[in-house]
Amino acid sequence: MDGLESCEVLKDESLVPDMLFKAILIGDAGVGKSCILHRAVNNEFKSEYEVTIGAEFSSLIIKIKGKTVKLQIWDTAGQENFRSMIRVFYKGSHAAFLIYDLTKKESFEKLGDWIDDVKENALPEAKIMLVGNQKDNEECRRISVAAAKDFATKFNLIGFKETSAKTGEGVINMFIEMAKILYLEAERNPSPKKDEQKKDAQKKGERTKLHAVSNTKKKSGCC
Ligand code: GDP
Ligand code: MG
Repeated sequence: MDGLESCEVLKDESLVPDMLFKAILIGDAGVGKSCILHRAVNNEFKSEYEVTIGAEFSSLIIKIKGKTVKLQIWDTAGQENFRSMIRVFYKGSHAAFLIYDLTKKESFEKLGDWIDDVKENALPEAKIMLVGNQKDNEECRRISVAAAKDFATKFNLIGFKETSAKTGEGVINMFIEMAKILYLEAERNPSPKKDEQKKDAQKKGERTKLHAVSNTKKKSGCC
């Protein structure tokens, strides 16, 4: 991560990124996926529970070493209980955030099934980051940091973070960390089709912007 500490999140939606990656938020219903995304994009928390309806995504643009990396982040949209229906949603994903609620043991115990879904449906090189949400609720904690770290090591995940969508703790960092990892890997393994991919990313960036505008209009709440 040397030299990458000074990453910043850019607000300019019209910016055409140097790199574009697709990321998905997965995990049981109610763990806080929509609130995490809403916190990252709008920096606010909504406490009323609202099931997300329809497929939704938002974007974050992160500046790393003078390059702009756009993460297009998809939320599973309340269909977590109909997992066979959301498999298309994994398609083409470079990254998955595997989210559990650190106050609910069941949400941690089911993580293995979510990993299977990523392996079967996302890109073969997709990176998975483990995220324990609701860190503000320390008195109700059921999953220790040590247990989560062991899990991340056992399943070869690229990292582990704890977050609170309520206070905002750790939320932006999980996305910045993932963007750094994807960026570094793309720098390390330049594909012969890199220029082609960059053009594609730029085209997609333009399209993303259009989607993001209509998506924002359609959205009525985060969670
Ligand atoms: P999703 O089904 O995974 O998208 O979960 P939501 O984002 O809709 O959140 C489910 C519930 O958990 C909502 O009532 C939220 O207000 C609450 N929630 C989400 N994140 C946090 C958090 O970090 N701390 C606390 N205390 N509550 C949270
Ligand atoms: Mg949701």
